Amino acid sequence: MVSHDRLFSSGGAMSDRSVLTLKYRPRSLDELLVQDHVRHTLARAIERGRLANAYLFAGPRGVGKTTTARILAKSINCLSFDKPTVHPCNTCSACLEIAESRSMDVLEIDGASNRGIDQVRELRENIKYAPASLRCKLYIIDEVHMLTEQAFNALLKTLEEPPAHARFVFATTEAHEVPATIISRCQRFDFRRATPDEVAARLRWLCEQEKIKASDAALLAIARRADGAIRDGESILEQLATFRPDGIESDDVGELLGLVPAASFYDYVDFVLGRDLAGIIRMVDGLFDKGYDLLEFYAGLIQHFRNIMFVQAGVPTDRLGLLPDERQRLADQAGALPRPLLVRALELLIEHETNTRHSQSPRVILEYASLELIRLVPAPPGPEPATNPAPEPAKPARARASADRRAARPAPKKQGPPAGGAGPDPVIDRMRGILGDIEEIG
Ligand SMILES: [Zn+2]
Repeated sequence: MVSHDRLFSSGGAMSDRSVLTLKYRPRSLDELLVQDHVRHTLARAIERGRLANAYLFAGPRGVGKTTTARILAKSINCLSFDKPTVHPCNTCSACLEIAESRSMDVLEIDGASNRGIDQVRELRENIKYAPASLRCKLYIIDEVHMLTEQAFNALLKTLEEPPAHARFVFATTEAHEVPATIISRCQRFDFRRATPDEVAARLRWLCEQEKIKASDAALLAIARRADGAIRDGESILEQLATFRPDGIESDDVGELLGLVPAASFYDYVDFVLGRDLAGIIRMVDGLFDKGYDLLEFYAGLIQHFRNIMFVQAGVPTDRLGLLPDERQRLADQAGALPRPLLVRALELLIEHETNTRHSQSPRVILEYASLELIRLVPAPPGPEPATNPAPEPAKPARARASADRRAARPAPKKQGPPAGGAGPDPVIDRMRGILGDIEEIG
């Protein structure tokens, strides 16, 4: 059974400060995960005494931008050294104050809630004064893209003549919304998402530190959900460790997070290959009845077809975060799915993705897309070998029988691209037309 109480909404705000995250937060550049290029470039700059006055840290949420800014603050200010160091001691008063976010000289400003000109004026006033106790003041402005145009203009004046005792780190998830005039005065670092395997490896390490029991499949399931943000993975792991103190299995992850079971995506493709619309409708009904989010299923389906595309294109799948049996099933489906069908599947699903978000009946859109796809699966060869037989997929007996009966009929007419926008409800209109083409549904 699925828990209807969603602890986490997809892409929504998770608890940013889980105990695990705080306890094991990287304390120096050496401990910074995943962002190798950031680590190396910053370390070199520190060693050569060539730090920039302003940095722009761009990248998705939860990948270490603010953590790196704090590490930088310690590297510059650690009292155990008389100049910036790659290895701050983490024990002196400067290091401790910064780590505990209570230094008067390291100011973390949330750009989303301090976006106006007044806040930047205040900053410009404050920046003139020498640091209270540290060597260098560091202004960390998070979500800097949220600042108003006026605020950016004021900030620019400061960046043009920065006091020697102050530096800036601007962090943003939307670098394209930061004015070019600001970006041109910063050294930019792009932080990347962690791969599922990288997140899972981090979680495995945390489990060892904290004596948390969890299966590899469970950790991989968490990692996939974390979507590249190690912090989110840590937060989910912490929830699950409380929820299942005796050991975390992959089913627990699905249950707690309301994850659509990965098997349903594979089943969907098998149903399409078996021309079994009834099977699809039953499966979608089942997911709906159990409280799963159909939009999430839809998004997962796009991801799954993308994975199949990768396999067909010979792209290595080791970054997809798949379990061994999933890898095998994916390879089988990639072998069975004709290329034009794959292309159309991606086209259709992406084309209607926005519709599903705004539709009162996302189920109908999904069923419609499924119908279109099934139509593209060549009927299995009858007694006479067909000119261009499709690879024979494994299919439920019922679908095979109905497909066999249909094999004697002429193949469905070729259909052009969807007539987008024609008529008041093109999706329903087209669905009617297709229903006329395909018989024996249900
Ligand atoms: Zn120190």
